[in-house]
Amino acid sequence: MKCPKCNAEMISGEAYIGGGAATLMTGGFSLANLSFKAPQWREHVLQQTSDVFLAHYCDKCGAITVETPRRGLSTLES
Ligand SMILES: [Zn+2]
Repeated sequence: MKCPKCNAEMISGEAYIGGGAATLMTGGFSLANLSFKAPQWREHVLQQTSDVFLAHYCDKCGAITVETPRRGLSTLES
């Protein structure tokens, strides 16, 4: 997959929040979510602590893509 920003080849992997399996097994937990926010749109939670998603990382410019399940955005008015 090509980086949408600099067109370099991206590295395929996984994206997750926190320390992964080791954190879960020691009973550590956190309420951290990765969220997306844009003007006129409500905050959209992309990823919760327990979610692991397919991701691509660009080692050249640092861009990252994360393939999250589509849940649908809602506007601030709705
Ligand atoms: Zn890039």
